[in-house]
This record gives sequence, C-alpha cells and structure tokens, in this order.
Amino acid sequence: MQLISSQMTGYIERASWIRKMFEEGIRLKKEFGEDNVHDFSLGNPDLPPPSTIKEALAELAEQADQPFFLGYMPNFGYPDVRTRLAEEVSKEQGVNVPAECLVITCGAAGALNSVFRAVLEPGDEILTPAPFFVEYGFYADNHSATLKPIPSKPLTFELDLEAIDAAINDKTRVVLINSPNNPTGAVYSREQLDALAAILEKHNAQRERPIYILSDEPYRFLAFDDVNVPSLLDVYTYSIVCSSFSKNLSMAGERIGYALVNPAIKGKEPLIGSIIMANRILGFVNAPALAQKLLGKALGSSVDISIYDARRKAMAAVLDHAGFKYTMPKGAFYFFPEAPGGDDVKFCALLQEEKILAVPGSGFGCPGYFRLAFCVGEDIILRAKDAFARAMKAHSE
Ligand code: PLP
Repeated sequence: MQLISSQMTGYIERASWIRKMFEEGIRLKKEFGEDNVHDFSLGNPDLPPPSTIKEALAELAEQADQPFFLGYMPNFGYPDVRTRLAEEVSKEQGVNVPAECLVITCGAAGALNSVFRAVLEPGDEILTPAPFFVEYGFYADNHSATLKPIPSKPLTFELDLEAIDAAINDKTRVVLINSPNNPTGAVYSREQLDALAAILEKHNAQRERPIYILSDEPYRFLAFDDVNVPSLLDVYTYSIVCSSFSKNLSMAGERIGYALVNPAIKGKEPLIGSIIMANRILGFVNAPALAQKLLGKALGSSVDISIYDARRKAMAAVLDHAGFKYTMPKGAFYFFPEAPGGDDVKFCALLQEEKILAVPGSGFGCPGYFRLAFCVGEDIILRAKDAFARAMKAHSE
C-alpha cells in the first residue's frame, strides 16, 4: 500500500542530513553522556528569551479570562501590534514603513510561503545563492516553482553577480537572498546589493512582471564587529523583506514573524492583499494570538548578542588551532569551513568518530564544506578543541 505521495518520499530523502545528525546526536548522547558529545548540528537558539518575554507572559496571564483574548483577529494580525512593529522595522530598515505594508506571519517560514503564494505562477524560477537554507527548495515546490541555486564565490560566499545575471530568464520571478546568511555567516555589502539591483533593473526594463528581491532576514540583529546589514528597501524598489523573532527573542517555537512590502512599490495594495490572503488560505489563518501579544510587549528587546560573539571567537580559536580554512562569519551563528580533502560527507563522518556533530555542506547545496552552529555553550566549544585537532590529524594521515 502506498501511503504517502511520491513527492514526499523524495523529500524525506532530501531532508536527511540534518535529521540524520539529529538522530545521531541523540544516540551518541545516550551512549557517551551529554558532556562527551559536541553537537554543532542544530540552529536552535539556546539562549533564554529576554526578560521582557517573562514579564509580558505574566501581564498577559492577568487578561486571559477576557472573551476573545485568544480569538480570531484580522488575517494581517492585531492592528496595535502591526503599528508597533511598523515603528520598530522603520528604525531597523532606516526607511519609514507604514503599518499597512506589514503582514504578521507564522515565522519567517510562513512569510516566505505567503509571499511565494502571492507572486509566483507555476513554473516560475526562484534564484538563490548557494549554499542556502535547505527549506527553500521545499517552499519553492509548495508553489510549483523551481529553486535555481547559483553558487556563491568560494570561501567568502559573496554573491556571484555575473552568474546571477546569466541565470535570469523569462521565468525568473524572485531572487531570494539571506543576509546574514545561514549557513555561511556572510553579510552582503551595500555595493553588492546595489550591483544586484542594477542587474535586475536592467532585466525589468524588458519585462511586464518585475523580478522581486525577497530578503530573508531572521539574523539581521546578529551582526558582529559593527558590520552594517544594509536595508534592501532603498536599494531596490521591488523588494520584500521576510523576517521573524525566532532568533532575536529566542522564540523559534512560537512561530511569529512578518512580511514587509517595500512602501516604494507603486500600486502595492493588491500585493499586500494577496500576501494577507495567502496567509489565510495556506492554513495558517493568522499568526498565533499569544505570540503577537508577546511581541507587542517585547519588541525592541533582544537576547544578548555579546554571548554569541564570544562563542564565535572561541570557535574561531578552536578551528585555527586545528588548522581549518574558513571565512570568519560576519553575522548569524554558523561557521562554514572547508572540508579537508574536499569530501564533506566523509569528513563529517570523521568528525562524528570524535563525537563532533556537524552538517555536510551537501545538505545546503554546497559540497566541500561543513556547517557548525554555535547555538551551544562556550564550554562545549572549548571542550571540542582537541577533538577537532584529532579529526584534522586523522584526515592528514
Ligand atoms: N530562513 C533562514 C535562513 C533560517 O535559518 C530560518 C530558520 O532557521 C528560517 C528562515 C525560518 O525561520 P522561522 O523559524 O522564523 O520560520
């Protein structure tokens, strides 16, 4: 009996790397104890939410006996939260964003899917720099579109603008970028984004349907060494931002984020209306009521990013000690070093023998590298120092 669709069978295969590592982590921790396994496989923010969340929960508990406290609301979200969010994103983006340009969504994932549903025709293409967040491929499929990965520049992971230009055709509808980047930690400079915008404007001049830049920004808050994360809004008219509070408020399980349509798009109202409609008909209906209310009270606060920065430095020291080649991440909480010998799957197996869990770059459309997430205590990073060095040595023998 065939119980599931053939597409799902294929998905389960494709999703296997992170899942495999997750399962392996459980097995190793059971066998050798939590303290003896160095698990860098998961991008699940481990810092506690900021104190504003606890305070907001206590305040909200007092109101929980009111009718409609957790009831339906307009599909774009609670109007007062939308207004507060508009103030906050206006500061972040350096552009005045009216509340009407925002749709509150079920995380960045909900925002991306709602925007795709609003703008894509079946058969459209989404260009994205590789490596990329693995879910993008599934999201493209959800809307019968094709994800077309464009390899980034080796090791620095800057955009390969010529390759992007060459890949554009009549079916290209979206260029999907993510900065600060998962899995590389790259942050695209204003110069790179200006150059990307110029390429798309050149193509748009020949087309009825504009190419959108969809900027996936859940790590915007997490940039190190005062690096600037430029806003797309004043770089490119047809830009849409998708983001969430999964990482900056450590609320990944609460499913709260937003889509922001560039206020500069002329005639944008049907586009915003379509994203709201998509939010409703994709089955989310609206972002969770409690998460929105929490957000209304906690907006503007954040986890302590100096903790992530200290871990980043600790991890760099550990990798340097062992002799790995990598580019220091400018943002997000990932390293993406070269896999010695070039075979990422083989090298991750070697790391596993040292009880280090890492995800092969192949899982992100970029063989030859591996991803280390530093959503773990600094003590675990430091404890892994000798194990990384041993893996490197074992490879060279
Ligand atoms: N985009 C990127 C690049 C991510 O790394 C993640 C989550 O890890 C998401 C989107 C999804 O974020 P959310 O949990 O807010 O849906």
